Amino acid sequence: MDISATQEEKIIFERIAVASKKLGVRSYLIGGFVRDKILGRGCKDIDVVCDSDGIELAHAAAAQFPNKPTVSFFKNFGTAHFRAGGFDIEFVGARKESYKHHSRKPEVEKGTLEDDQKRRDFTINAFAISLNEEDYGKLIDPFNGLTDLENKIIRTPLDPDITFSDDPLRMMRGIRFATQLDFNIHTETFDAIRRNAERIKIISAERIADELNKIILTPKPSVGFDLLYRAGLLNHFFPQMVDLAGVEIVEGKGHKDNFYHTLQVLDNVAARSTDLWLRWAAILHDIAKPPTKRFEVGHGWTFHGHDAVGEKMVPRIFKQLRLPLNEKMKYVAKLVGLHLRPISLSKEDITDSAMRRLLFDAGEDLEDLMVLCESDITSKNRQKVKRYLENFELVKERLKIVEEKDRIRNWQPPISGEEIMQIFNLPPSRNVGTLKTAVREAILDGIIPNDYDAAYAYLMQKAEELGIRKENA
Ligand code: ATP
Repeated sequence: MDISATQEEKIIFERIAVASKKLGVRSYLIGGFVRDKILGRGCKDIDVVCDSDGIELAHAAAAQFPNKPTVSFFKNFGTAHFRAGGFDIEFVGARKESYKHHSRKPEVEKGTLEDDQKRRDFTINAFAISLNEEDYGKLIDPFNGLTDLENKIIRTPLDPDITFSDDPLRMMRGIRFATQLDFNIHTETFDAIRRNAERIKIISAERIADELNKIILTPKPSVGFDLLYRAGLLNHFFPQMVDLAGVEIVEGKGHKDNFYHTLQVLDNVAARSTDLWLRWAAILHDIAKPPTKRFEVGHGWTFHGHDAVGEKMVPRIFKQLRLPLNEKMKYVAKLVGLHLRPISLSKEDITDSAMRRLLFDAGEDLEDLMVLCESDITSKNRQKVKRYLENFELVKERLKIVEEKDRIRNWQPPISGEEIMQIFNLPPSRNVGTLKTAVREAILDGIIPNDYDAAYAYLMQKAEELGIRKENA
């Protein structure tokens, strides 16, 4: 065998080989599994292709395992798979594909191993390893994928214009592999992506989002976004991000390129956290800079309110990109809305109540917000960065002190709406909300301490002002 396989994998391969021999068919390991093995990356998905019926081979192979795993199969697609020892093993008959212009669903007919390798998207995804007696373990590499793997190159096996026009999702996949593996896309392949970028419109938003999230989860996602932008793909599904690009100059004053700034922030967050949604907050933190941009004489460029406007833009963008419209979206929107707050706290003469407000508004997401804000410091001036980061440490210290003093995070005011209704015998109504908010605000502003008695006394005073009496009860 050309690649190093674990003992467990060797046993699996041998069982498939025995089943193939019994049926008199030829079978091969193929695609991403072989690529990952050569790269020394772990891979739990084993793909097997054979020159006959994949479903029949899957059943015969499963019968070789002592625990006789259950085979699931899809008759229409001619595919079958079962799980064994933590591996998902998929079987399919070798096929040949031909495409129609309007769809990425090909017409499929039976083919040879060579046909099957030709329908693969990249040379490094087209390897096969024989599981047949006469050349067991031999690597079959018709497109010199091994050389591309050594030189870290992403390249299509056939004419790239045809490959990408047939199935435009491959353009996203190519950029995803380049980002994940730290490979370069071959010039001719990249030029073809640029020429075919518009074809991405026949791909569903769900599939695009799936590839995009894989790019975002890599250690250096900026690489993928830069490629998507330069290839002319990004504008087709995420035009708001492309709007961030570029620098405008008025009266000799320019602003920074917010697209590349965003990518820098994204990489900074990626270096600090693996959380997909915190990374999305980085991508979207300045998304409202283009719609809020103004040139003010005497001031230069301003982006007033881009935090609040950005927060409002998040749901629409999530919907457009088919990202989940749930608490993850709310979390991202919240961080976008709050992303300037910790920076404003690093100024001098900041009151405890400003600290308290941030603790209350950020709640359990405070640490994530601080990661985002630290990552947002992208100045080229090292001294400046150092100073900002030091200021940030001070803000963190003070937040900690205020928090310890007040226990304010995830905090509920000491008097609930329920209790206010009971005290004054009120139905759920605006007055209840007004009283509850008044108590909460007074505590956050430091007007009264954070305890029950003070809150009760303040409640009575406010109620009096509003003409609500206890004896009305
Ligand atoms: P990953 O496991 O990282 O998502 P992968 O390419 O190894 O990537 P799959 O997406 O399951 O895993 O694909 C397995 C193999 O199928 C690929 O290696 C490739 O040979 C082939 N393949 C998958 N999608 C396409 C496509 N759109 N066009 C051509 N070949 C494809």
